[in-house]
Amino acid sequence: MIFMRRFFDHVSEKDWLSYEWQIRNRIRTLEDLKKFIPLLPEEEEGIKRTKGLYPLAITPYYLSLIDPEDPNDPIRIQAIPRAVEVDEKVQADGDPDALREEGEIPGLTHRYPDRVLMVVTTFCAVYCRHCMRKRIFSQGEVSRTKEEIDRMIDYIRKHEEVRDVLISGGDPLTLSLEKIEYILKRIREIDHVEIIRFGTRLPVLAPQRFFNDRLLDILERYSPIWINTHFNHPKEITELSEEAIDRILRRGIPVNNQAVLLKGVNDDPEVMIQLSRSLLRIKVKPQYLFHCDPIKGAMHFRTTVEKGLEIIRFMRGRISGMGIPTYAVDLPGGKGKVPLLPNYVVSKKGNTFIFESFSGELVEYTIDEVA
Ligand code: SF4
Repeated sequence: MIFMRRFFDHVSEKDWLSYEWQIRNRIRTLEDLKKFIPLLPEEEEGIKRTKGLYPLAITPYYLSLIDPEDPNDPIRIQAIPRAVEVDEKVQADGDPDALREEGEIPGLTHRYPDRVLMVVTTFCAVYCRHCMRKRIFSQGEVSRTKEEIDRMIDYIRKHEEVRDVLISGGDPLTLSLEKIEYILKRIREIDHVEIIRFGTRLPVLAPQRFFNDRLLDILERYSPIWINTHFNHPKEITELSEEAIDRILRRGIPVNNQAVLLKGVNDDPEVMIQLSRSLLRIKVKPQYLFHCDPIKGAMHFRTTVEKGLEIIRFMRGRISGMGIPTYAVDLPGGKGKVPLLPNYVVSKKGNTFIFESFSGELVEYTIDEVA
């Protein structure tokens, strides 16, 4: 617990474990951040130049995970702006809405027939520098009004093919409990909606949110609910995030992890296998490893598809299949996800295949259909 309060020894345990305290005390300015960490020149410049475009916010908890001596600390890279975000090339190459999420009804995306995405707020505990929805950061911290939410829900009601509603943001679980309950209650009035999922990074950025039994009561009441979270590095799995996950799981809410492949953060097979091992230990399924989307202001986080495939190949045979996420790219123009796998079929003649085993051995195998 002492390590967890790095830079914040003076804060009482009660405050440290309070989500409201964490949100109230987010670090939002260059001056505040400098009190805790000696900044690199590109960070100082980054904070100045991204002001008003891609804001800065870091919870004391997430800040405390940074090793101040390490300029390449993976938490630091995800949380502290660098000048490269507004570099001309990074800006010119990226698209603010590469996945074409913006549609006719503000906040609602209906891409796959059976699923819709509701973006209900722009607020996040921490503004992750690699965020695929960076475009909404500059809109300020705003939540959808009741009328806007009603409009989304009316759409869902009229579309009987929708069985699954993903509520995201920003971070939807930062909304007030009243608003969370309102949304859930309205969705649950629709018979054809079977499951509700929340996309939330709070288990990583402010796990204290889940120490609130009223929130967990609400989530449990409107079950079946699933949580998709977003751990990117094993350093993010702490005593507190583990406790948050445990509390969620005890309410019958499964948790899947959707990591993003990020240059300088987790583009390393050893890091990714450690992440998967740690996730399995806390009973979170590593579901996806997404290739970083071509988002304006986040292009510098992109690495190659070969790197992603190398990571998946490395994991095979070293960890149970349960621990290997599906590596996927999101096609441009909102055309959906495509899973990518290393090629294990070296050749095929008739029904005889040459496969490459996890250890690299070539194995001949004839697979006949039994009539
Ligand atoms: S918490 Fe999620 S939505 Fe918010 S900035 Fe981070 S990645 Fe983006």
